[in-house]
Amino acid sequence: MSIRRATTLARHVFYSKSILDTYTWKTHTPVSFDDKVDHRCTACDQIRFLKYWWKEKPRPEATETMSNQDRHMCSRCFANNWNLVVPETYSGRLPKLFTSPDYPPPFRKERLKANKSAHEVKKEHEEDLKEERP
Ligand SMILES: [Zn+2]
Repeated sequence: MSIRRATTLARHVFYSKSILDTYTWKTHTPVSFDDKVDHRCTACDQIRFLKYWWKEKPRPEATETMSNQDRHMCSRCFANNWNLVVPETYSGRLPKLFTSPDYPPPFRKERLKANKSAHEVKKEHEEDLKEERP
């Protein structure tokens, strides 16, 4: 699983109020805690101590006992599950992260492929972020 996707997702979703306000996901809601909290991730089944979580929305078919319990997915698992990560509703242009399952490409490969310096690659990522701001 790509940790880069997870960090990029966190950067896009949790650090940007506009995304939190305008995007919704079909199965999960992004939750950002003031402090790190313990939850068991429903995907990797590990107890993780994180600030950013994806809370499962109550499912209509869930029984009462199930819906009483909050279920969370760690941001890393969520970021790497392409079916979940694409927003259900949004306005404007989708950031690359939500249109390409392979974005961002692995750092080393990306550099070799384009024969770019680390500095240039970093600059491009910064420009990517700029573009996405309304
Ligand atoms: Zn997980």
